[in-house]
Amino acid sequence: MNNIKSQEVFDKACNYMPGGVNSPVRAFRSVGLKPPVIKKGKGSRLFDLDENEYIDYVCSWGPMILGHAQPAVIAAIKEAAENGTSFGAPTENELQLAELICEAIPSMEMLRLVSSGTEAAMSAIRAARGYTGRDLIVKFEGCYHGHSDGLLVKAGSGALTAGVPDSSGVPADYSRNTLVAVYNDAEGLQELFKKYGSKIAAVIIEPIAANMGLVLPDIDFLKQLRTLTENHGVLLIFDEVITGFRVSYGGAQELYGIKPDLTVLGKIIGGGMPVGAYGGRRKIMEKIAPLGPVYQAGTLSGNPVAVAAGISTLKTIKQTGDFYQRLDCLGKSLEDAYTEAANRYGTDISINRVGSLLSVFFSDRVVVDYSSAVKSDLEKFKKYFSFMLDRGIYIAPSQFEALFVSYAHIEKDIAETKAAIEYAFSLL
Ligand SMILES: *Cc1c(COP(=O)(O)O)cnc(C)c1O
Repeated sequence: MNNIKSQEVFDKACNYMPGGVNSPVRAFRSVGLKPPVIKKGKGSRLFDLDENEYIDYVCSWGPMILGHAQPAVIAAIKEAAENGTSFGAPTENELQLAELICEAIPSMEMLRLVSSGTEAAMSAIRAARGYTGRDLIVKFEGCYHGHSDGLLVKAGSGALTAGVPDSSGVPADYSRNTLVAVYNDAEGLQELFKKYGSKIAAVIIEPIAANMGLVLPDIDFLKQLRTLTENHGVLLIFDEVITGFRVSYGGAQELYGIKPDLTVLGKIIGGGMPVGAYGGRRKIMEKIAPLGPVYQAGTLSGNPVAVAAGISTLKTIKQTGDFYQRLDCLGKSLEDAYTEAANRYGTDISINRVGSLLSVFFSDRVVVDYSSAVKSDLEKFKKYFSFMLDRGIYIAPSQFEALFVSYAHIEKDIAETKAAIEYAFSLL
């Protein structure tokens, strides 16, 4: 594969940006390669500077559920931009996006738009502390909630990939207020609550964990979490930045029928533009400025162009009758392809999947939490990754990220991917 232009640009970029990138995992460090520099995307495909073509299963780490440059979304962006790109004043589009979200996720009676998932999670925590008057929060090992100080404790995603789940630069005074629990461990949680229950403001969780690779929740565990938090006056925050509008239109909370107090969104609700949101029970959200004493603001929050992309994305999903069924079929075909190849070549893998989210762990045991995830064979992943890339299949360069299928993926893409999986597994 010719990658002369990509290499040239990337090497130059390394002089100006740490690792040549603006978000760490993009640098391909954990797989020991240099990343292709992307020129454009269309549907399920990416094209790099050297005209190499890839079937994309990163989908910008989740947002591009309709595929790249989806015509309706691009038209909405153009139309909004023609009318001015930012006013720092109310617009009707913000209301439209808020209505669409609250209608899809009824536990969100009121919300605030921000510009990233990080901001949304950080602000939801502040709201929870302001509302309860308590300081402690609980997060789960391997879950990622953006890069704000108090949440970079035993974090997943790029922090885990880079081997720094507890970031340097975070004062001990911040992380002292963050208690860490084990995903899917109801007993551990009960003990934690026995000890600290009356001091905990909130528990934040990815209701389906997708940042240590994909780890599915035990439904009973989630239900116990809901009961425990309720009994102790602790707010339950679902971080649905990945799962919102991904696993179903109403997110994981709709899928499992569990109602959190606050929900954090990002990724899909911006349709590829920077949008995040946090919201929940009206009583809690009324603590946010200007109604209440919890301050949170943003110059570009609810940006008209970004919001237009979000509205168009959500409306397109809503209007497509078979949307989630089709995504699930595509996901299932991929899962089957992996299972068949693993059986044929005797490769130990463990697959977790929900709809269009999927992770293939190179491990002989089921992956249910952080400690089982990190037992995967990273050397094998590295080889597999580079064989797939050689065959034009672009997946996340980390064992600890999920694979995303979009509505733009077609059967032909899956067939090509299947052939690449066969090829890669035959060489592992
Ligand atoms: C991506 C992600 C975030 C952070 O969102 P950014 O837009 O990258 O700041 C937070 N929580 C989860 C679950 C995520 O996957």
